[in-house]
Amino acid sequence: MAPLIVVQVVVDRPLAQGFDYLWDSERLGGSPEIGQLVEVPFGRSNVVGVVIKVGTHSDFDLEKLKSINGFAPLPPLDPAALRLINFASQYYIHALGETIIPTIPQMWKKPDSWKKIPQKLIAAQEKKKKKVQLDQGAGFIQEVDLNAEQKQALEKLRHCSSKKNEFTTMLLQGQTGSGKTAVFLNWLSAILDDASAQVLILVPEINLTPQLERRVRTYFPEKKMVVLHSGVSEKERGIAWHEAMTGKAQIILGTRLAALTPLPNLRAIVVDEEHDPSYKQQDGIRYSARDLAIWRAHDVKVPILLSSATPSLETWLAAKAGRYEHIRLDQRAQGAGLPKVHLINTRDPQNQFSPGDVSKPKGKSLITKTLANAISKNLEDKKQSLILINRRGYAPVLSCSACTWLSKCQQCSSYMVMHKAGALTKKSVLSCHHCGLAKPIPSHCPDCGNADLKTLGQGTQKIEDAIEEMWPRARVLRVDTDSSKSSKGAEELFQEIHQGKVDIVVGTQMIAKGHDYQNIGLVAVLDADARLFSQDFRAAERLFAQLVQVAGRAGRSGKDGQDSGDIYIETQYPESAVFQYLLGHDVDGFLSHITSERQEAGLPPFSYQALIHAEAKSLDKAIQLLSTLKAQLKSQGHISKGLRVYDPVPKAVMRVAGSERAQLLIESDSRKQLQEVLEAVDRGLRENSQGRISKAARVRWLIERDPSAI
Ligand code: ADP
Ligand code: ZN
Ligand code: ZN
Repeated sequence: MAPLIVVQVVVDRPLAQGFDYLWDSERLGGSPEIGQLVEVPFGRSNVVGVVIKVGTHSDFDLEKLKSINGFAPLPPLDPAALRLINFASQYYIHALGETIIPTIPQMWKKPDSWKKIPQKLIAAQEKKKKKVQLDQGAGFIQEVDLNAEQKQALEKLRHCSSKKNEFTTMLLQGQTGSGKTAVFLNWLSAILDDASAQVLILVPEINLTPQLERRVRTYFPEKKMVVLHSGVSEKERGIAWHEAMTGKAQIILGTRLAALTPLPNLRAIVVDEEHDPSYKQQDGIRYSARDLAIWRAHDVKVPILLSSATPSLETWLAAKAGRYEHIRLDQRAQGAGLPKVHLINTRDPQNQFSPGDVSKPKGKSLITKTLANAISKNLEDKKQSLILINRRGYAPVLSCSACTWLSKCQQCSSYMVMHKAGALTKKSVLSCHHCGLAKPIPSHCPDCGNADLKTLGQGTQKIEDAIEEMWPRARVLRVDTDSSKSSKGAEELFQEIHQGKVDIVVGTQMIAKGHDYQNIGLVAVLDADARLFSQDFRAAERLFAQLVQVAGRAGRSGKDGQDSGDIYIETQYPESAVFQYLLGHDVDGFLSHITSERQEAGLPPFSYQALIHAEAKSLDKAIQLLSTLKAQLKSQGHISKGLRVYDPVPKAVMRVAGSERAQLLIESDSRKQLQEVLEAVDRGLRENSQGRISKAARVRWLIERDPSAI
């Protein structure tokens, strides 16, 4: 009789261990391999899992082990991919199974279809893709010859990454429009000369992907490229992932979810806009795709390039300290100068319409006279204007003019936002942005019956109305997640801007990033102050980055330093450091400034943090769990020099969808010490939990490492 084969399998459950199964060679055919995707009986159902060990021994009674049902028609995940996922699982204190399984596209997790999948499907898809490629390949984006500064940057990149099998991290820092993309495409081109090489390009958000996608496709018409982001259909994603993990695709372009794709021939990584907060996964395993990409490059010994106009503080400091190569571009590629920054002090009466002016049209009360004049002038110059307000909907709160009623959400400790009727909702509604609850607008105050309900504050819809009222002949377009979900997708809205079909764009931060607009003369930011005083210590850093980004949308095509565009910022606090450094486009000055602030306060990157989240029916229970945890850490001697465990506190938005939420902050001077303490936290919590829910009080908990990472 052939010896029994025992395989250990992890499944998508918050369980630390793997499970032993028998591999019935006769029935299954083939032999088991580490990294193989299999189907196993689990509890009362069958689930997919990944083989992490193959042997002949089990600590359990062999007689009682169940057998593997079958395996996927896929090569096993390669060793480097498994190392990466293993690292992520350990570092982010997340079970291996629930780290690995979510990285596999749905299509490969349906054992029913394993037999019929792929060949036909894949062939059909390839044909379709070729056609799309040809349709788009005419490519209206022409790549240009690099200018002297870009050539120099390219030389340096090549020089720093010239040795084979060597890990190096490079920061390409250059202001918006300085031609960073052109430089890194050139750099990748030499690497891709090796026909088997794979390169990974990470971008922050889906709405940035189409433009870059077209550009990369045009640049590398001969290469097989796949795109991975949440907007790609499950089927296409399954195929793209397959092409990536089998080494067939040479270029993998994607958002953070692409960071964990197995790439057996990975030769280089680019993280575009490396400072962008959307690289941070916000549910499930809360990883930073940028940080994982750096670990991955180190592990497989390849160069990684981080690109940004406004690097994150930790990246910038690493470059300053010489741990990363620092490569810079200081001029705008097309010769334009930088946009001129204007701070409009909203407290200065000179900037406001006089009371007589305000009567008509009423939109005038929402923006300053100074800004209105600038927009009129920009319209006369036949240039487009971009108006940024970071809140979608009509107004953040509805209020009663006779009593104290406000449109609170009944399930959350937050207000319901008023949305006017539009493409998405036929009627105006109050909608909660935390739990999704939507209600009709009450005709009378629910508390006192008064019919005069007023909106407080403004969102994109209200500003859109105001702008239309003030410039009735201008073509106004609103771009936010609401408008991009309606009949036209985001890409179509952006095309309208690119094609000059729009005079004034009103939008959320969606419009601020990356887009290479050619005719924006003016950018205005209406609600910068809202983010000036935030509990989040990163708020100023993020605001600064966003202002530089949005400013960078202006005047991109100007020549010889002329016509570089203008950015207007309405603020009550023009003296704030964020705005003062912005006046001089002084990114390095600003970063030095916040370095000393962070250092004094002992905040990241001068310390390391983790949050323990707790969520229960009542706040008391959530706090109780965290207090007990803190006491445990103390009694076990974990709270030593260099480690701070704060008191549990309710979250800023305490109640969401009927659950009450609290958190505990742990801070350490050393990564290693934090790792140890988090492992102890995990053990302690698991002992008394089923999965991630405490048995006694039914508190759901989650550990989040580097919560404020980009
Ligand atoms: P970044 O990535 O720094 O924002 P891009 O590479 O997107 O910059 O370049 C900005 C714009 O300048 C694009 O329209 C690009 O085609 C153009 N551009 C880049 N390099 C050059 C160059 N050497 N000469 C002329 N135009 C260029
Ligand atoms: Zn009332
Ligand atoms: Zn709610």
